[in-house]
Amino acid sequence: MKKNKCVAVVLAAGKGKRMGSDVPKQYIELENKPIVYYSLNVFQKSEVIDEIILVTGKDEIEYCRANIVTKYGLSKVTNIIEGGKERYHSVYQALQKISSCDYVFIHDGARPFIEEEIITKLYHAVKEYKACVVGVKTKDTVKIANQEEWIASTPNRNLIWNVQTPQVFEYGIIKTAYEQLIENGCENVTDDAMVVENMLQQRVKLIEGSDQNIKVTTPFDLIIANAFMHIKK
Ligand code: C5P
Repeated sequence: MKKNKCVAVVLAAGKGKRMGSDVPKQYIELENKPIVYYSLNVFQKSEVIDEIILVTGKDEIEYCRANIVTKYGLSKVTNIIEGGKERYHSVYQALQKISSCDYVFIHDGARPFIEEEIITKLYHAVKEYKACVVGVKTKDTVKIANQEEWIASTPNRNLIWNVQTPQVFEYGIIKTAYEQLIENGCENVTDDAMVVENMLQQRVKLIEGSDQNIKVTTPFDLIIANAFMHIKK
């Protein structure tokens, strides 16, 4: 049976202000390679993925082409495009570049520790559920706060997940959801699942991933990422 066509969108635009560094977080080096290289390489190796679209800042396009894609032979990268102001603008730009496919895997380039097994697990899940995101159940108790930072409520911890990426969707679902988002507007869009939930009322399935799939966001995360790199060797 023919495998479905899968496109990965790897997001590496944005400034990453929480890192407090001049270099955007996704380009800080781990073991002498920029963070975004690692997830690109995993998608390159994955049997499930046919094409990769890399989204970056205007000033980083040539750097990415020469120093990541060409240098490391990432032949599945078919487009390196400029992102937008917010993450969701960057996703929208990438979706515009996809002419047709079956499934879209949207991944934060700042998550270098994604594994091929999880990509394969998500592929099987999206064929069944049409929309799915990887995540882990929270270890901490979570509080919902009011504007004055008083606790408003305490949700049942067993139902709280920290979601990560890849977030994976049927092409038609994610394309329509993002077109509606751009047309209608929406505040505080921080992941793709919420676009699908809010715009289409489409159910999204949670798939258990791993704690190692961190987003390198702060200087502390960088310490963890370096330590983890070391252990993996
Ligand atoms: O800023 P945040 O932590 O949500 O970023 C998650 C991912 O989205 C990062 O890999 C970052 O490079 C990407 N991003 C983007 N375009 C933006 C903002 C963030 O591609 N405008």
